[in-house]
Amino acid sequence: MGQAGEMTQPTFEMTAAEAKASAWGRDQNRGEYKPSGHVVLTTHPRRGSPITVTWGADTPEKRGPIIATITSQKQRNSIGTHNGSYSVYRSIAVAAGKMDPLFKPDLHNTAPPVHIPPNPAWFDKKRIVSMDPWGHLTVSAFGKHLDEGVDVRPTIAITNAHIQMPELVEAIEKGRLVPDDKLLLKDGSVCVTKAAIEHVWHLPGVAERFGISEATLRRCMFEQTGGMFPELITRSDLNVFLPPIGGQTVYIFGPADYLRDPSKVCTVRVHDECNGSDVFGSDICTCRPYLAHGVEECVRTAQNGGVGVIVYFRKEGRSLGEVTKFLVYNARKRQEGGDRAETYFHRTACVAGVEDMRFQELMPDALNWLGITKIDRLISMSDMKYNAIVNSGIKVLERIAIPDELVPEDAQVEINAKMFAGYYVPEDKKGLVNEDLVKATIGRDLDVDEAKPHVCSGGHHH
Ligand SMILES: [Zn+2]
Repeated sequence: MGQAGEMTQPTFEMTAAEAKASAWGRDQNRGEYKPSGHVVLTTHPRRGSPITVTWGADTPEKRGPIIATITSQKQRNSIGTHNGSYSVYRSIAVAAGKMDPLFKPDLHNTAPPVHIPPNPAWFDKKRIVSMDPWGHLTVSAFGKHLDEGVDVRPTIAITNAHIQMPELVEAIEKGRLVPDDKLLLKDGSVCVTKAAIEHVWHLPGVAERFGISEATLRRCMFEQTGGMFPELITRSDLNVFLPPIGGQTVYIFGPADYLRDPSKVCTVRVHDECNGSDVFGSDICTCRPYLAHGVEECVRTAQNGGVGVIVYFRKEGRSLGEVTKFLVYNARKRQEGGDRAETYFHRTACVAGVEDMRFQELMPDALNWLGITKIDRLISMSDMKYNAIVNSGIKVLERIAIPDELVPEDAQVEINAKMFAGYYVPEDKKGLVNEDLVKATIGRDLDVDEAKPHVCSGGHHH
């Protein structure tokens, strides 16, 4: 494109050697990073990478590695960079002189201890659009590129772990689970395989999931991030984007091979992060109780010869974030008539502009990556999750509601509002979930004297 366009840019590419000399190599005492006079712009198509990506191709050779590292500007074939939101912290580490900007990871011994091999979903460019299915196989699939000095990096890492949750100890004490010394140990810990996954978006496929044009998606992502990635607008030759957002973690209970075997019973919970409940036990929602129930069901399934999967998505507060979430809590509890199931979704929309931003359309990708084609037991009541999974081609045989005794008192507002809005209603509650129930479900006030005058005296105090 335009010679003139390039001329008007005051900058040009800094070579790796220049960067090293200016930023790191010269001053071993470091301190603040001293950039060279050149700013590396990423917006020029003339830098098109020699290594292209053919999304959905059936071999790593044909597909090509995702190159999103900033150490090889000329080879980058993707927009954005690695480590999701943590790339911003990396910029501080470099700026503060704590990290060589050209550092390349030593991947020796980092390969997965468990094999997640290719399955047909990997070769369908529409079935997986928000992660790189080859992301954990960097060393084996793209070893040739690594040998040639190309800075290819994993976007998925897999390891084994023991997890411990007090709810599992309780399940053993109450006799619901029995330790087997293999999967579930006597102290309540569970041996799992876990996979951390960073987002890698194939923009044409992501746009198609939402039924919008790629141009609209790119434009909105550029604008709504305050112009963070100009290439979204200028580089139509690049259609892979690593967004600076939180990823997901898959926990596997039992042999991972069973995930691809439809003859094995498969239990799944897809869980969206709720830090207040998941970690701190906050009682306004059902998140941690439902997550713990999902883990218990996964353990039970695996002990009975099947396999369980929890996928944990960093989508705090319906992807609205905790600041918005806490504002909504206050608005709910101070509104006239108190915290009511009836106005549960409306209050969120008032503060956030939308009821939910989790967009489950992208969620099934991890399940397809694992090779799951059928879920016997889905531990979720969300109609959005269910629809997304079924629409992605995975069969769901049974949906499991959260047991009543696990719903905290103050979370009745949430669970009743959700069931009334279209969430799965278990058989024993059919006919009970109606407008009367929703109108009658009222939560606790804010436990602060200051808040009381704002709450209408509608006779609901208790
Ligand atoms: Zn929650």
